[in-house]
Amino acid sequence: MNGKTALVTGGSRGIGAATAVRLAEEGADVVLTYRDGKDAAEDVVRRIEALGRKGLALRADSGDAEEAVDAVRRAAEAFGRLDVLVNNAGIGVLGPLEGLASEDVDRVLAVNVRGVFLASQAAATLMTAGGRIITIGSCMADRVPGPGGVLYAMSKSALTGMTKALARELGGRGITANIVHPGPVDTDMNPADGPYADAQASLTALGRFGNAEEIASMVAYLAGPEASYVTGARLSVDGGHAA
Ligand code: NDP
Repeated sequence: MNGKTALVTGGSRGIGAATAVRLAEEGADVVLTYRDGKDAAEDVVRRIEALGRKGLALRADSGDAEEAVDAVRRAAEAFGRLDVLVNNAGIGVLGPLEGLASEDVDRVLAVNVRGVFLASQAAATLMTAGGRIITIGSCMADRVPGPGGVLYAMSKSALTGMTKALARELGGRGITANIVHPGPVDTDMNPADGPYADAQASLTALGRFGNAEEIASMVAYLAGPEASYVTGARLSVDGGHAA
């Protein structure tokens, strides 16, 4: 990926941080966004630079429409082009249906859906042939194993439809769009020693949590030249959660 520029939303921690570093290992210059984690984001930039690539951290709340779009523009301006967008930033609001307020719905949809749509729309206008839009969904778009996931699953399922339609919209320009559905992955959002971890691990065929690097490797494949004929696809990296 030498000479390519990638933007990873929510790249300060977890899956986004692992993805940003992995894309740099593949040769890309990488811009990442964060909302609160400035220090963590700057650590990721240092790891990118240590690999001999350019890195940049931008504060941009994906839940804010203007900031979500502006981050794409700033990323392209910073390094002169944009080849890969990884829509990773996401929030999980889980809980019983009756406890979810209208504000929860707005917040989750703003970050997990509207921000992804707007960033993808903005990126599509800047990308040329070979461009890649890769979105991080969730295994809960395929299989919801118990109660409490209505809002989160709704938001992630929307991304599958968006991805298929984007593939159709952008295929003629040689731009691909794909979605990766992670299973339980050990991050701040879903720690492998959290209260529901054993139950989640037991729902996978492999009987364990994944790590962020195992998701990043699929993103790197989709971002790279070997995935040139893959578009509109939903790829599970879930230890068999959906099996
Ligand atoms: P983490 O909570 O560990 O990290 C989230 C990252 O996103 C952080 O870098 C955070 O930045 C950033 N972020 C959060 N909200 C915003 C926002 N409004 N604007 C910009 N950046 C934001 O999450 P994961 O790494 O676990 O999750 C990454 C993606 O993977 C999410 O879309 C999630 O839904 C999905 N996923 C995760 C699974 C898991 O088991 N972990 C399973 C399936 C899907 P900051 O440091 O500033 O807060």
